Amino acid sequence: MKRDIYIGLGSNMGFKRRNIETAIDNIEKIPGVDLVKKSSLYETDPWGKTDQDKFLNQVIMIETALGADELLDYLLEIEIKMGRQRLEKWGPRVIDLDILLYGNQVIQTDRLRVPHPHMRERLFVLIPLQEIGTDLRFPEDGITIEEVLSRVLARDGNTDIRKI
Ligand code: ATP
Ligand code: CA
Ligand code: CA
Repeated sequence: MKRDIYIGLGSNMGFKRRNIETAIDNIEKIPGVDLVKKSSLYETDPWGKTDQDKFLNQVIMIETALGADELLDYLLEIEIKMGRQRLEKWGPRVIDLDILLYGNQVIQTDRLRVPHPHMRERLFVLIPLQEIGTDLRFPEDGITIEEVLSRVLARDGNTDIRKI
């Protein structure tokens, strides 16, 4: 069965724009994956660990019959192939590929949590996601992306993400 799957991409090292493009090219090459939509690129201030370079972020929608676990394996492989090193939590990275939503599935395993655990708090995810998935709802409680986004914006404002 094919489902709509959203992946968040981020890079804050090296030639960030090219890193994002290379990652998307690699995702398109995963057997059985179709790229359906791409958001704009956004330049964003670092989240969580703020003493590092700005990020470029983008969200894409793909369709695939692959299982979520299998998809994660491919994404981690692409990260490693592109030189990702995990030295510190939320530290600088060449590329980060997160599964944001996997159709309507809620997944809670040791290695995979979907919807992505922090996405409801992250403008750099919510803004590009809403750009390509206007009518999306979170599977756990049915709340719309639009509602979540407007709550975060009302609370924090938006100074740290810019469409480029
Ligand atoms: P965050 O998860 O807060 O965005 P991060 O992306 O920097 O932080 P990573 O070091 O890239 O964290 O990932 C650590 C592990 O998180 C991965 O090896 C993977 O097993 C796990 N993980 C859990 N849920 C997801 C998900 N939805 N998408 C990608 N990885 C996930
Ligand atoms: Ca991440
Ligand atoms: Ca990640």
